[in-house]
Amino acid sequence: MSVIDIISKIRKGKIWDFHGGLHPDEHKRESSEFPLVDAGIPPFIVLPLKQHSGRVGRLLVKVGDRVLAGQQLTASEHPMEVPIHASTSGIITAIEPHTVAHPSGLSEPCVHIKPDGLDEWRVRDPWPEFKQHDAMALFERIRQAGIAGLGGAGFPTYAKLSVAREKAEIVIINGAECEPYITADDRLMREHAREILEGVEIIKHILRPTITIIAIEDNKPEAISAFLLNPLPDDVIVRVIPTKYPSGSARQLIQILTGKQVPARGRSLSLGVIMVNVGTTYAIRQAIIEDEPLIRRVVTLTGSQFRNPGNAWVRLGSSVRWLLAQFSLQPEPRQRVIMGGSMMGFTLPHADVPVVKITNCLLAPSVGELPPRDDEMNCIRCGKCAEVCPVTLLPQQLYWYSKAGDHENAEKYNLADCIECGACAWVCPSNIPLVHYYRHEKAEMEQIREEAAQAERAKLRFEAKKQRLEEERLAREAHVPPVAATRSDTSNADPIAAAIMRIKAQQNNKDKAAEIDIRAEREARKAQALQHQAEKSQQDSVALSSAITSPDDARKAAVAAALARAKARKAELVAEDTSTTQAEAKSTATTSVASEDPDAARKAAIAAAIARAKAKKAQTEAADEIKQPEPSAVSDDPDAARKAAVAAAIARAKAKKAQAEAAQSKEQQE
Ligand code: SF4
Ligand code: SF4
Repeated sequence: MSVIDIISKIRKGKIWDFHGGLHPDEHKRESSEFPLVDAGIPPFIVLPLKQHSGRVGRLLVKVGDRVLAGQQLTASEHPMEVPIHASTSGIITAIEPHTVAHPSGLSEPCVHIKPDGLDEWRVRDPWPEFKQHDAMALFERIRQAGIAGLGGAGFPTYAKLSVAREKAEIVIINGAECEPYITADDRLMREHAREILEGVEIIKHILRPTITIIAIEDNKPEAISAFLLNPLPDDVIVRVIPTKYPSGSARQLIQILTGKQVPARGRSLSLGVIMVNVGTTYAIRQAIIEDEPLIRRVVTLTGSQFRNPGNAWVRLGSSVRWLLAQFSLQPEPRQRVIMGGSMMGFTLPHADVPVVKITNCLLAPSVGELPPRDDEMNCIRCGKCAEVCPVTLLPQQLYWYSKAGDHENAEKYNLADCIECGACAWVCPSNIPLVHYYRHEKAEMEQIREEAAQAERAKLRFEAKKQRLEEERLAREAHVPPVAATRSDTSNADPIAAAIMRIKAQQNNKDKAAEIDIRAEREARKAQALQHQAEKSQQDSVALSSAITSPDDARKAAVAAALARAKARKAELVAEDTSTTQAEAKSTATTSVASEDPDAARKAAIAAAIARAKAKKAQTEAADEIKQPEPSAVSDDPDAARKAAVAAAIARAKAKKAQAEAAQSKEQQE
């Protein structure tokens, strides 16, 4: 059956049914009959960074910042990153982990805001004429408004819509709200049908489907009337469906409205169908027309322990404990507070958790109203669970495989298709918390898939790096042909080892060049030394040949110098003796003159003559010595020559002195 045929049947009022399901007590009237109220501004706000299924955006604020209502606190730079916004004005007091709404009571990073009570808004830019903006601009505003599926899944709305453009023939606005106790959508439809229809027009403007169906269970007649009171375009119909749990689940509602089953692990878009919750549709309208991001939502507060049950606009980040007090909870001992309905909800570990985007109900039943399950018993293979399963699974088998951790068989029996509706556990006579086992097994399988995906990503990164290194190596080789030409083929070698080999080759080339230079320099110096030595030898040879005729000449010269010195010394002694004799002779002559003795005068004259003769002889010898060859000219010893010259000079001086004294002595005698 083609989509056109299906649409044709839909227009004729045709609806279908799904397998299984049940009709638990609805408990809707306890809260649906009171108008929506505003819960007000809480004394403090705790906003988890992650309130959706997807990635956490980058923080845009820090502790101490003052923020305004609607101000973006985290960035949205990826389709699966849904930003969060300040739900009122105030000061950021902390950014730290806090317990969040989860059965395990786990903590996640949160932005803590102390409201200032002013509720001052950031500047807004409403787009009442939204059709003046193209689809991309509307997409972007929806993304920045932080809208995620308010029906409970929390899937990023931008990501859902962006893949459905030009592909979705049928848009389903889900107002079924099948879960017992929850009436948030019911009240929203009753009081804001017109705004929801504006949201429908925005979605139509973006996706351009053939038909849009607003689906509502027949247990909400006021909501149905609210829509029908508004003029509806031809391509928008309100479809009333029978009340049956879980008709509000996406797959089951698609089957009810189109007769088509979404394939296992498939998407509704494969059938040309996309589904949006009524609360999400209203949020889209607020984001586009009012420029109001998702900072509040409708929450049902119900259960027999509430004195004032009802529905309220609650700011995201408000404390559950504070909210319970606002609606006059009268807790009994060990009071249970369930987030969600009686079928799919979970019991909170404590009330100090914040309201988030997917919080649609807080249920505080009495023990008599919703008694805790008795102790779990063994499966009796009654098969009731399979009878009610709306997905036509085999809950009993899934239970065994989940309990045993048999991932392969759990997957084989399509555990992933379980919508966790809780119908099987609801009818189980053994009180087996089947959904608990399924969730645990799903979490384990998801972890295994995530680890496998991480390993695959690491493998891809390694392959990419390996390819890059190879490309770089090839590029280097192309630019340095000599090195590549002398290198052995390393195309299959480790690129790091190849690089080391190239560096070593370059270093070896440098070393060889340096060694050649050193050798050449050494040879040059050696040749220079030999040349110098040859020249010196030649000079020495010439000097020796001109100054020394034989090796004995030096010795002879030294002997001659010694003789000269000895003669000079002798002359000196003779001169002294002569002076002494002349003095004696003079004395004798003087004495003779005085005594008038003729012999004495004669003797003195003889003595003087002898003295003069000696002096003359000494002078002659001294002159002979002076005529001897210069010692320096014949001796290799410069000191010896110099000493000989000095001795000769002394001898001449002494001889001259002796001659002068002799002359003086003669004058005295005369
Ligand atoms: S309903 Fe419970 S007891 Fe019966 S077959 Fe299923 S799991 Fe077993
Ligand atoms: S919880 Fe899962 S197995 Fe059980 S009835 Fe629902 S879909 Fe079927």
